[in-house]
Amino acid sequence: MNIQGQEQVEKSYDPLDTTLKFVKRKDDLDPLFSDEDDGCLKAEMSCGHAVTPDSLTRWCCSQLDEGNYKFRCPAVVEGTKLCNKVWSYQEVRRLADLTVEEIQYFEENMARLAAAEYTEIQQCPQCRTSVERKNLSNLCVRCTICTADKKKTYQFCWQCLKEWKGPAPRSDRCNNDGCINHDLELLKNCKNTTLPQYVHSGQETEMISSRLNSTSSSLSLSFICHVDIGNKRATALHELK
Ligand SMILES: [Zn+2]
Ligand SMILES: [Zn+2]
Ligand SMILES: [Zn+2]
Repeated sequence: MNIQGQEQVEKSYDPLDTTLKFVKRKDDLDPLFSDEDDGCLKAEMSCGHAVTPDSLTRWCCSQLDEGNYKFRCPAVVEGTKLCNKVWSYQEVRRLADLTVEEIQYFEENMARLAAAEYTEIQQCPQCRTSVERKNLSNLCVRCTICTADKKKTYQFCWQCLKEWKGPAPRSDRCNNDGCINHDLELLKNCKNTTLPQYVHSGQETEMISSRLNSTSSSLSLSFICHVDIGNKRATALHELK
């Protein structure tokens, strides 16, 4: 990993930290480590394996680089069998003694990798090849196969699966008749409601964009609002579940 502007200082645990369980063993994440005690404090993870802040940081960074955002213990338990127990991010953050820059790096990458898992795939209504939608707030999706075939941009609507009509990007509907977002309709027809936790200290808020996200298990609404305080404008993103 290469976090810009970060000094490469070796980390070490605070021996007075009573929230950690210190052990006098070899570092289980370092296969080349000799059994001799190097004087560096090791702490025990929830799975029982010993780590140092540096070995844990290195291992988890290598996992992020490979596209894994769930951290599993790579310690060898017997022969070639690995421990494989999942560590929570909270545990990793604490025992790897992540710096502010590392926390940012970890959280950005974990969010990106988790979001990528939910990227939607649908068949192009024209050629039936699988098309991935990368921008979940835009219904207008281009099929690269059809575009290449026809030598003319072919875009279809993710919602009604007809050829795209009207301006893009749009998140609610295209200009084809009957293209509606059932979730948005549901919201339009439901009663107005006050959300006290989203009132910005009594200021007028202006909702500038909203998006309904529905998955099989939950329905959530995210919206951005602008708050004018004096001549300053603040923007906030809210997520309702
Ligand atoms: Zn383990
Ligand atoms: Zn196509
Ligand atoms: Zn449509």
